Amino acid sequence: MKNVHIDARAAKDIDQRIDRVHRDLSYSGGKIELPQVRDLLRLDLHYYRADDPNLLGEVVHKLKIGAKQVIERPALLLEAVRRFDLNALFIPDRKRILIDSSVPDLKKRWYESHEVAHSLIPWHNDYMLGDDRTTLSQASHEAIEAEANYGAGRLLFPHRAFSEARLSGVNSLAQVREIAKHFGNTITSTLWRCVEQSDEVTFASISEHPHYMREGKLPIEYFVSSKLFERQFPHVTESEIWEWLPTYCSYRQTGPLGSSEIVLRDANGTSNVFGIESFSIKYSVLTLARFLRQLPVQISVSRGTIAT
Ligand SMILES: [Zn+2]
Repeated sequence: MKNVHIDARAAKDIDQRIDRVHRDLSYSGGKIELPQVRDLLRLDLHYYRADDPNLLGEVVHKLKIGAKQVIERPALLLEAVRRFDLNALFIPDRKRILIDSSVPDLKKRWYESHEVAHSLIPWHNDYMLGDDRTTLSQASHEAIEAEANYGAGRLLFPHRAFSEARLSGVNSLAQVREIAKHFGNTITSTLWRCVEQSDEVTFASISEHPHYMREGKLPIEYFVSSKLFERQFPHVTESEIWEWLPTYCSYRQTGPLGSSEIVLRDANGTSNVFGIESFSIKYSVLTLARFLRQLPVQISVSRGTIAT
């Protein structure tokens, strides 16, 4: 899956809404505490199990979607859960966030923030459930989800503090891990935000281990690139990244797997050298690559005699 850069106007609007939350929280650094965010926004949080319709029915007791009484058709909601935000959802008229309790704890933080972002973006309310949502085109659905992910990133990585942390040194996986610790977020979500927000030519992937691929998994789960990378290297694919990994990654199961330099041609045909490094956490390998330098242009001279 590839990250989607949202349009600049929507980004600015979302930034203002999230900045306001940080201001109202008197945020001064470190981890964002989500219970405080919920208090401030008067949201409540419930857990459900997607495989237990009774419990879900209980949670959504008397809940309405538009004029429809969902309780009469819990299957409708269940289907929405399964079809869209598989692990979480937001119910606007109840200001209620529902999260699948079987989601690993570390991921719950991200899902909750994603739903908080939906709640803060007014034009999302119309789309959250019900007929609008089921008839929403795939493209609009993806745009809405990308906006919620963007908002979640902004919420968990407050802009000014995050920019300072990112720009304080050379982008590397060691730096990503430090930033993750500082903001109390996962390394994966931190890597994603660091690349997405970067003004440099950089990309990252979250993948299987190149030497221990698990059955039934996608080799590259996420391919995230900065805006500049996307513009200059629109043709780079997930399968290319997957082919580079075994060329320098060690067989270690956790920790640093190695680093290397790779050469990538940009859209103009110029060769560029990137530094690439990988680090393995329990189930995923995180890879970060950034532009180092351009290779001098090579002029090929065809053989033959020059007529004089
Ligand atoms: Zn969503």
